[in-house]
Amino acid sequence: MKTSDAEYPSDLVIQAAGVKPNTAWLKGTIDLDDRGWIETDEYLRTNVPDVYAMGDAVLAYSIPAQTKMPIALATVVRREARYVVDHIFENTPSVPFQGVVGSSALSVFDYHFASSGLNTTTAKKAGVTIKTSFYKDTLRPAYVPTEKGNPDVYVGLDFDPQTHKILGGAVLSTYDITAQENVIALAVQQGLRLEDLAQADFFFQPGFDRQWSLLNLAAQHALGEPEFTK
Ligand SMILES: Cc1cc2nc3c(=O)[nH]c(=O)nc-3n(C[C@H](O)[C@H](O)[C@H](O)COP(=O)(O)OP(=O)(O)OC[C@H]3O[C@@H](n4cnc5c(N)ncnc54)[C@H](O)[C@@H]3O)c2cc1C
Repeated sequence: MKTSDAEYPSDLVIQAAGVKPNTAWLKGTIDLDDRGWIETDEYLRTNVPDVYAMGDAVLAYSIPAQTKMPIALATVVRREARYVVDHIFENTPSVPFQGVVGSSALSVFDYHFASSGLNTTTAKKAGVTIKTSFYKDTLRPAYVPTEKGNPDVYVGLDFDPQTHKILGGAVLSTYDITAQENVIALAVQQGLRLEDLAQADFFFQPGFDRQWSLLNLAAQHALGEPEFTK
């Protein structure tokens, strides 16, 4: 594949055209931004009294970015709807919508992949400085042979280089480790740092994982600690 920057060897190219909200019919009644996203305040209220907006046509408040950005997911609108239902009868809303992390998973051929929060592209768009650490390991202890069910596993962690706050991440393997992503999502939502994830007390059982759990190791690696080889 050849772009204006470089040429990349590739078997398959997937071009993502992007999406934009189909909100022209609201023009003149509901305030829209210059790209058509419905404008809401921190309580998900539009400019029209008693009219709330949520979902794909609204920019979602991202916890790691601490700003609004497009995150078109059912998981986002479900949380926004729950918030509105909880607060719709308050004359003065008691608390703003907390925001979302934004997580999704996908299987591509033999690989299972999941990601949460910010990545280098979305962080740049949101004006957030991140550092990324890439970690490769095996699912189970090193003494378990590959053919006995010990495939490679990969973790990317995105974090604030100053505070080490975890802002996003991704996991990938031929073995389904996508549930690990929900731990990263919770770490992002709760504002945990690499140091917290490096030390978090997770289980070990050689049938499932390593002596240190995968996300412990990925965080230790991101902190520059010596590799755990056993
Ligand atoms: C193929 C696909 C797979 C997805 N998989 C996932 C997934 O696995 N996990 C996940 O979290 N998210 C997933 N999503 C995203 C998720 O579906 C959306 O984020 C979610 O449905 C957004 O909800 P919404 O209520 O904002 O909009 P929608 O669900 O799109 O609802 C909008 C509704 O408004 C109606 N409408 C539009 N214009 C008008 C009009 N002028 N008058 C009256 N009605 C109108 C539409 O017909 C539609 O029913 C997927 C999306 C797609 C396309």
